[in-house]
Amino acid sequence: MVSRSFAIVGAGFSGAVVARQMAEAGHTATVYDTRPHVAGNCFTARDETDVMVHVYGPHIFHTQHQHVWDYINRFGEMMPYRHTVRAMVGDTMYRMPMNLTLINDFFGTQFTPEEAEAFVTSKADATITNPVSFEDQALRFVGRELYEAFFAGYTKKQWGVDPTELPASILARLPLRFTADDSYFNHPFQAIPRNGYTPIVQAILDHPNITVHLNTRFNKSQSGSFDHVVWTGPIDAYFNFEHGRLGYRTLDFVKEVHDGDFQGCPVLNYCDVEVPYTRITEHKHFAPWETHEQTVTYREYSRLCEENDTPYYPIRLVEEKDQLLNYVQRARDERNVTFLGRLGTYRYLDMDVTIHEALQAASGMLSAMADGSDIPSFFTDPIGVA
Ligand SMILES: Cc1cc2nc3c(=O)[nH]c(=O)nc-3n(C[C@H](O)[C@H](O)[C@H](O)COP(=O)(O)OP(=O)(O)OC[C@H]3O[C@@H](n4cnc5c(N)ncnc54)[C@H](O)[C@@H]3O)c2cc1C
Repeated sequence: MVSRSFAIVGAGFSGAVVARQMAEAGHTATVYDTRPHVAGNCFTARDETDVMVHVYGPHIFHTQHQHVWDYINRFGEMMPYRHTVRAMVGDTMYRMPMNLTLINDFFGTQFTPEEAEAFVTSKADATITNPVSFEDQALRFVGRELYEAFFAGYTKKQWGVDPTELPASILARLPLRFTADDSYFNHPFQAIPRNGYTPIVQAILDHPNITVHLNTRFNKSQSGSFDHVVWTGPIDAYFNFEHGRLGYRTLDFVKEVHDGDFQGCPVLNYCDVEVPYTRITEHKHFAPWETHEQTVTYREYSRLCEENDTPYYPIRLVEEKDQLLNYVQRARDERNVTFLGRLGTYRYLDMDVTIHEALQAASGMLSAMADGSDIPSFFTDPIGVA
């Protein structure tokens, strides 16, 4: 077998997993990241309180894929964790997601599951048969009262636009249950790494065929020194923003340290539009197996991502589609480059999907190389993909 050289741009899960797969197959992987650490946006670190902080926002691992679950367990200890979220509306705290308890608490009722379902159906706007916007979809699902209390303000703060301008597809992902189950996720595997995500990514990258360069921006002009480039940075940055900048939301976190317990739960959403932040995360509740006298909170503010900010959520407004189409075409025409991950394909991706897609791309490249073929360029077209 001929050993090939790969440049891997980005040391998040996408880059680390591809690097590992290539290294284990006897190829060399040189990994670059502009940041001073590995793990990308999943980076965790203990701060001065010794609490494990999810530095770029709260990350809960959840998956339905057995092979992804097996993969992550090879590299670190995953602790069972069931995520719950609470929401403030006015002065009242509710249990999310929208379930029997929330419906009864909000309407001051004592409905059975069947009664609650019939009640919500009676509130839902059945005249909306073809929902286009987020607002249409919410009104069609739960009616005006629940929409205005729990979705309208929060969504406006999170996305910076009116819910009438957002696509209906965003709400398709939110669960509505008529039981008291308040688990935030439905997946069979849900966990948080005992020592955070950073040592897991370090372990994935710990292989003699892998070299990691931190604090180092990969420049396209370096591509010629490698057989293939795997680009997990922003797709528009690869093309020097020639078709303009794709829209992202960024987050500002205001950190506070308190004694004891601040809010009694890991994540508390603030639904009212008058409250300027979207949620408060209390990090020690992500590690219920630990005890700490102090606690660390992040008050989270969402705003439009500017040139030097960290991109978090792709906005994907309808008007951006043409711009995105240009980048998709350019990516398809590019030789010897695979675009991967949340920034490389301009999609919101959970960690498990990121790992799954990285394993798939690596396996496709390895099969082609085993046949003696050229290394194919993989790219998941972000248009029309959730
Ligand atoms: C607030 C928030 C909360 C989330 N919560 C969850 C959750 O609870 N559960 C879940 O499963 N997922 C969650 N996610 C998604 C998760 O963060 C992603 O799935 C994951 O980070 C994707 O990994 P990646 O490697 O594709 O990208 P990233 O982690 O962003 O890694 C890309 C890396 O590329 C580097 N880079 C970019 N350009 C260059 C360049 N030119 N040269 C060198 N390096 C470069 C960047 O510095 C970055 O480190 C959340 C995301 C956000 C924004």
